[in-house]
Amino acid sequence: MRITNRVFYDLAIWMVAFGLLIGLVFPFFVLLLGVPPETAITPGFFGACLGAGALAGCFNFTLAKLVAGNRVRLLADRMGTVGEELREMTYTGDLSKCTPENCSIVVDSDDEIGDSARAFNSLVQALASSMRTQAAVRSFTQMLSSRLELDAVSNGALRQLLDHTGAAAGAILVDIGGHLQVQASLGVREPETIVNRDLVRAAMQSDSTEVLDVPQDVEIEGALVDFRPRAVVFLPVSHKSVPLGVVVMASTETFEAEDLARLDLFRHGLGLALNNAMAHSRLQRLAALDPLTGVYNRRFGLGRLHEEFGRAIRANTPLGVMMLDLDHFKSVNDTYGHQVGDRLLTSVAGIVSSMLREGDILVRYGGEEFLVVLPAASSENIRAIGERVRRAVEESSLVDGSQTVRITISVGGAAYPNQNVLGEDSLLELADEALYVAKQAGRNRVEIANESSVVEERLIEA
Ligand code: GH3
Ligand code: MG
Ligand code: MG
Repeated sequence: MRITNRVFYDLAIWMVAFGLLIGLVFPFFVLLLGVPPETAITPGFFGACLGAGALAGCFNFTLAKLVAGNRVRLLADRMGTVGEELREMTYTGDLSKCTPENCSIVVDSDDEIGDSARAFNSLVQALASSMRTQAAVRSFTQMLSSRLELDAVSNGALRQLLDHTGAAAGAILVDIGGHLQVQASLGVREPETIVNRDLVRAAMQSDSTEVLDVPQDVEIEGALVDFRPRAVVFLPVSHKSVPLGVVVMASTETFEAEDLARLDLFRHGLGLALNNAMAHSRLQRLAALDPLTGVYNRRFGLGRLHEEFGRAIRANTPLGVMMLDLDHFKSVNDTYGHQVGDRLLTSVAGIVSSMLREGDILVRYGGEEFLVVLPAASSENIRAIGERVRRAVEESSLVDGSQTVRITISVGGAAYPNQNVLGEDSLLELADEALYVAKQAGRNRVEIANESSVVEERLIEA
């Protein structure tokens, strides 16, 4: 039925042609009504009928164009305006302007034009939802890629997951060394207890998001949140098919299909970010620890000493350091072998570590030499602690086959502000000098730097 590429041209052609056809057959029709042929079959009557037919065709076309054409034009203009709005929102990323007033067309007729408006509105809805999802995924990915620490990744991810789904409370649990641990939680009472819930354990083994709808008449015992949850979602997180953890979120409303679809997109990014954060923390641990004894290595230990010294100066609190050196360790190696020497070294590190307080820092400073940093410890404190540690090592023994190996240590200590030093290096030097004194005095003893020790910086100052 198409003649040209314009609907209204086609309509005009059809209407005028139909008018002419009517005009052509009308004279024969009036014959049936009894009009004499000499009146009806005349060029004048034919001309009049054809003219009237053509005029009626033109009139019909004008009416159609006015009634339908204007409606279609309005629809097209409105679609164009909404399209512009959407384009602008794509650039600004601000979808809040996409309100029903701004982004939809009023459906005011129950016909093809109404159907077109309805179809357009649903297309805009789908587009706006897809743009919202894109924006959410973009902001989630940006947040994940700007953090590397496991705590920061988990807390940032949980906050955004709650925002994007409208959930009111949630927690992220991560498998660390075979144990699920709470890495982040918001709005959950006693989050640690979630770890042992069967549903969480089941979600860990699953590969798909599970939603638990809570019927309104169900009584919940031992509720973990301060509100009445309507739905709880369990989102397993994995990387390359290795389960890493579970996100649990509770909402006062049921979750929308759109929210759940979005969660699935977040899941993959979160898996990658958690995997990176866990690898990062493993690497950091490895970079900080001495592989033989498991205590901090020298590089990391000196960094920590620097931080603690700065803190002691700022807060005007004491800071003690002790240098520990195994006595005649060379002869232990020579007598029992290097392997026994290694075991003895590890065992001494264990004994010392077990006698320290939380916050004290044990460092393998050199081959068989350890440094202990003791925040808030004065000269008197380190004398007592050094003595306790020395005695504990003296009383310990290592069994190697049929032989028992014993060792002693010498300890040198110094503390700020008992020693009025300006830097941690000077404090270490004084502790080292005290250790030398202990060695010279016969070993297996504790020496603390004399309070009258003269320090380089003081001389420089003077
Ligand atoms: P002193 O009482 O004067 O400290 O005598 P010492 O024999 O302990 O001192 P010296 O510095 O002469 O020897 C230290 C020894 O510690 C030499 C080295 O073979 C040993 N040593 C250093 N690191 C390790 C280690 O990782 N494992 C073992 N088995 N021995 C080590
Ligand atoms: Mg030694
Ligand atoms: Mg030594």
